[in-house]
Amino acid sequence: MRLTSVPPRAPGGAGEVLLHDERGALVGQVRFRLCARCRTGRLLGIWILESRRQEGLGRRALRVTLAHGPGYRWNTTLQSRPGRGFFRAVAAHGAVPLSHGRPLCPHLLGGLGRVLRRLGPRPSARPPHDEPS
Ligand SMILES: [Zn+2]
Repeated sequence: MRLTSVPPRAPGGAGEVLLHDERGALVGQVRFRLCARCRTGRLLGIWILESRRQEGLGRRALRVTLAHGPGYRWNTTLQSRPGRGFFRAVAAHGAVPLSHGRPLCPHLLGGLGRVLRRLGPRPSARPPHDEPS
């Protein structure tokens, strides 16, 4: 198994950790964003090839991902059902407390957030539900 880290190219940009098998086929991927200024990180998604699940690959990839931001606070986007289950399992193992919700700082909003900031005040359609006020 080969793990490749692709750090974010720009501050607030997305980086990824890729898992390739012995033949070079992609079997897993974790995507993330980092904010060095606020020491926050955000997991955007995780994918493990269906036939390679239950091997601990997701956990390995996640460890490498979290090493990009040592001591950072992390959370995740709202995940698909399998993703949520995975993050719950990882959190239960005490790896890192991962909650779902809005980015922990404004720099992690990504492309859509940047567009919204350019357009003016963010629409307050839904109040944050899991961030400290
Ligand atoms: Zn920030």
